[in-house]
Amino acid sequence: MGRCPTGTAPGNFPRGRKRGLQTALQKEIIREIETLLGNQSIADLDFEAVEMAARRQSLRLAARALEQRLNTDTSDHVGPQLPCPCGGSAQYHGRHEKTFESVLGSLHLQRAYYHCEQCESGFCPRDRALGLESFSLTPGVLRMTASAAALLSFEESSGLLHELAGAEVSAKQVERAAEALGAEIAVDEHQQVEKMGEVAPTMYLGMDGTGVPMRTQEIADRAGKQADGSAKTREAKLVTIWTAESRDEQGQPVRDPGSITYSAAIESAATLDTSPHLSDFAARVQREASRRGFSEAQRPVVLGDGSNWIWNSASELFPQATQILDRFHAKEHLSQVGKIIYGDSPEGKPWIQARYEELDEGCLKSMVQALHGHAGQYKEARECVRYIWNNRRRMRYSKFHKQGFCTSTGVVEAGCKVVIGTRLKRAGMHWTVKGANRIIALRCSKLSGRFEDFWERRSDQRKTAA
Ligand SMILES: [Zn+2]
Repeated sequence: MGRCPTGTAPGNFPRGRKRGLQTALQKEIIREIETLLGNQSIADLDFEAVEMAARRQSLRLAARALEQRLNTDTSDHVGPQLPCPCGGSAQYHGRHEKTFESVLGSLHLQRAYYHCEQCESGFCPRDRALGLESFSLTPGVLRMTASAAALLSFEESSGLLHELAGAEVSAKQVERAAEALGAEIAVDEHQQVEKMGEVAPTMYLGMDGTGVPMRTQEIADRAGKQADGSAKTREAKLVTIWTAESRDEQGQPVRDPGSITYSAAIESAATLDTSPHLSDFAARVQREASRRGFSEAQRPVVLGDGSNWIWNSASELFPQATQILDRFHAKEHLSQVGKIIYGDSPEGKPWIQARYEELDEGCLKSMVQALHGHAGQYKEARECVRYIWNNRRRMRYSKFHKQGFCTSTGVVEAGCKVVIGTRLKRAGMHWTVKGANRIIALRCSKLSGRFEDFWERRSDQRKTAA
């Protein structure tokens, strides 16, 4: 154990002494900076080198001061034994040192250690009290790790934490910490279903699915879209809710900034007809809807593409909602069919354009007529006719536009890209269902602006438990 810079005895720090420690630290930091600058002229400074070194030195000094302050306080030794969560009794085994990665760099902390023979495990009351139980990371570094891993691969997160914060967290540590937090967030999301925020007069709910690349053992025996009938991915399903009360210059509804929230997971949207329970995904949609007050809106709207599970979930959960086939998806569909019929020939583009115009006007009859001309030759044209027929009530676009509804948003499509694609569908990534769902939970919480609330609840719970 090092000597106290102010020369005070270990133990209690009276107010005056604490201020003495502060002044000593300040003086030492100033001295370090003077040493760094030396006698060279300011104009000749390598400023980046100086600022980086100054930060490093200041943090190192602060870390030593904090370490010393914590290590001289032995109040976490509260007697020869403590009750263990298993019901047994844990015996005091002296002070154990452990290195934690903090925002100040490494901290070597000695804490009272209690060991229980009955369950053969040990714990440090101080780690619980200070929230140091997560992978040798302090709460500050844990939060940074979560922020990075919500956006970037584990490897990239590790690099960014090093570069921006000087924190040494290995890719494996990032992975473990982010997945553990994601698991906590997933549990928290199930519990937090009370309404947050305002209910708008018109509210939009979109659903969509996208494939996540899986590790081989996760998809064995599953049917899929590969040539041999096997699968490489599992479908993540997403629900997103937003509002569009703002209007552009033409008076068209525009998505309100900051109004989008997401919830997603790789899970089933199907249940047996005889089951009284909602499917896992339908239950997720219901929780998100209740957080947003979707069903309380005067005009709830559900948007999606042609998948049956979307409309089944919508009809089951929100029979009062207006169902709209997202024009964005419908156009994608028409353009695919046009490309199959015409290949690269110049007639393709105008044909697709004409269908787009019919779609925007809601002229389903002309669309179907145009497709019928190719139905004998192309099964895709036949399927497209069926798609339009099945969704005809959801494609009355001229009526929806008169009512002032958004019908082509890209929000749902973008949601899948933003929440799943950019983080989970990158080259070389292969997931387990469990791992993917944890990272998706973390990402949804961040992107929906809910992470701070979760973090606060988590800290409160830890305090109460300790
Ligand atoms: Zn025990």
